[in-house]
Amino acid sequence: MKCLYGITINELEKYFMDKGEGKFKATQVFEWLYKKRIHSFQEMRNVRKKTISDLENDFSIEPLKVVTKKNGKNVSKYLFELEDGNRIEAVLMLHDYGNSLCISTQVGCNMGCHFCESGRLKKVRNLDASEMVRQVLCVEEDLNLRITHIVLMGIGEPFDNYKEVISFVDIVNTPKGIDIGSRHITISTSGIVPKIKEFALYPKQVNLAISLHAPNNEIRNQIMDINKAYPIEELMEAVRFYLSKTNRRVTFEYILLKDVNDSRKNAHELATILSGINCYVNLIPYNETSHIEYKKSDSKTILDFYDELKKNGVNVTIRKEFGGNVSAACGQLRSNYKEE
Ligand code: SAH
Ligand code: SF4
Repeated sequence: MKCLYGITINELEKYFMDKGEGKFKATQVFEWLYKKRIHSFQEMRNVRKKTISDLENDFSIEPLKVVTKKNGKNVSKYLFELEDGNRIEAVLMLHDYGNSLCISTQVGCNMGCHFCESGRLKKVRNLDASEMVRQVLCVEEDLNLRITHIVLMGIGEPFDNYKEVISFVDIVNTPKGIDIGSRHITISTSGIVPKIKEFALYPKQVNLAISLHAPNNEIRNQIMDINKAYPIEELMEAVRFYLSKTNRRVTFEYILLKDVNDSRKNAHELATILSGINCYVNLIPYNETSHIEYKKSDSKTILDFYDELKKNGVNVTIRKEFGGNVSAACGQLRSNYKEE
């Protein structure tokens, strides 16, 4: 049975109209789900009995099951179990600008980045929109707070699950739903070029982040299999197309891996390929994992890299490190849990 949390407001309006009922019912139901946060259809007090029994026959509204939760300073990490027993994770980070939730979009990932736990475990299946929406609802309810920002940077490649990701954005963004502003939502991709071009034409003002992680094809081929399908020149061409359509600044993520991509020369190369592109670079200290041999760059190297980019006119920030002790990087909690 389909989960109601994966249905967009337009789809629900159509559902009611197909039954010969007014589409205003969709708004009523959305209010119960997302404003009043009910847990059973029976709680929808102003809705007709017949409508409730239709909804009960056609949809479920089960929440996700929390398997474990780890709390650190300003960070909480959740491991969820889905109806079929698969496990995914979400990480909440409390920033001074708001509460940001990093959600998963797939069970595992097929992009095969060599430094990443999610890729090591391979994709089992895509999440549907309801499984993404329910990560948000579950964390808000558990901590009794409102999430203000969402990043699609947990387990999975969002652009390998494009349709459900777009439904998810629609549901959380609609004022009748969870009502998180599109400018507060960021989708991160390893660089699936045709989807970046498609996303360039998407009308909502959602942010795009690109996991670049290397200044040239030689290094990128070594650490990211996707670069063999879509090398840096094609990726940059897609980014330029995106910028020409949206005029929205792109973020490039760059994990610093010791002795792999972290030299001053690499920083200079990076500045060269980014010149003239409206972007900023987010340098990410690598979160080491016991299964993968890559090491984190030392602080001096990170600062030198940062300086070199700055000197060359690149907007750059170093990502604040959140809870290495709660396995906060992509896929780590799930992967550790599997082994326990
Ligand atoms: N698949 C998408 C989104 C999920 S990964 C993408 O690759 O962009 C989100 C980010 O976490 C990516 O930039 C990814 O490269 C990074 N990441 C993966 N493993 C990491 C680790 N161990 N330490 C730091 N960042 C990591
Ligand atoms: Fe997949 Fe992103 Fe991990 Fe690469 S970094 S394997 S694309 S989740």
